[in-house]
Amino acid sequence: MKVTFLGTAGLVPDVGLKVTGKRGQLSMMIDDDYLLEVGDGALRNLNAYGADLNAVKRILISHLHSDHFIGIVHVLFDMMNVRKRSEPLEIIGPVGVEKATRGLMSLCELPVANDETRGYEIRFKELGSSEDFDDTRTVRGDHPSEAHAYRIHRDNKVLFYNGESAFTKEVMELARGADLFISTVVVLEPHSFHNSPEDVGRAATEAGVKRVAVVHWPTEFEEKRNEFKQLIQKYYDGEVFVPDDFTSFEV
Ligand SMILES: [Zn+2]
Ligand SMILES: [Zn+2]
Repeated sequence: MKVTFLGTAGLVPDVGLKVTGKRGQLSMMIDDDYLLEVGDGALRNLNAYGADLNAVKRILISHLHSDHFIGIVHVLFDMMNVRKRSEPLEIIGPVGVEKATRGLMSLCELPVANDETRGYEIRFKELGSSEDFDDTRTVRGDHPSEAHAYRIHRDNKVLFYNGESAFTKEVMELARGADLFISTVVVLEPHSFHNSPEDVGRAATEAGVKRVAVVHWPTEFEEKRNEFKQLIQKYYDGEVFVPDDFTSFEV
């Protein structure tokens, strides 16, 4: 299983940095068929990477905060208008993902909003508190917006992704023994509902995971990547990656 980090930034990707535009908002590909998160500008990074959008079968969203979701409208439009997609597409996410996606398409007055003329079917799946389907398991976490964590099991390897939830008991159970543990980081210091690098280090050790990758760190921390790693490694002695956009890992 290969994961490609297409965008690694959080809500504010560019402000105050000399390397403006270097990192896009969060988006990752699993092999070539799952798209995990679609932050703003996801289409740009998919195209820059050379992704085959017709190979994408499933889009997985952790929660509806814009930096994880709002890029979906251009991805869906591109699938219709440029790729001439005909195969169905699944969109999986929290309760409300269907209404939010349809709302965005309609508000933007894009023809992709029309089920009759889009050319491909969109099948929505709204997640309950825990789900198990195909190669994917999910649990609902704890975040101001309903957030889900994902565990994808493929080729005897497990990828775990925590989309911004606190490390609750259920989230930790889902992460257990993962080959790659991907977590968002939003703050350097402990925070009431956002994970710090130290939280990630503690959780990775507790869950007994093999490797850690952190995404979604604020761009103003660009100069502090080593500090990030060190804070995680205070509590976790495995390998830690702070990936750039367009980096791939074999899980
Ligand atoms: Zn976020
Ligand atoms: Zn959020």
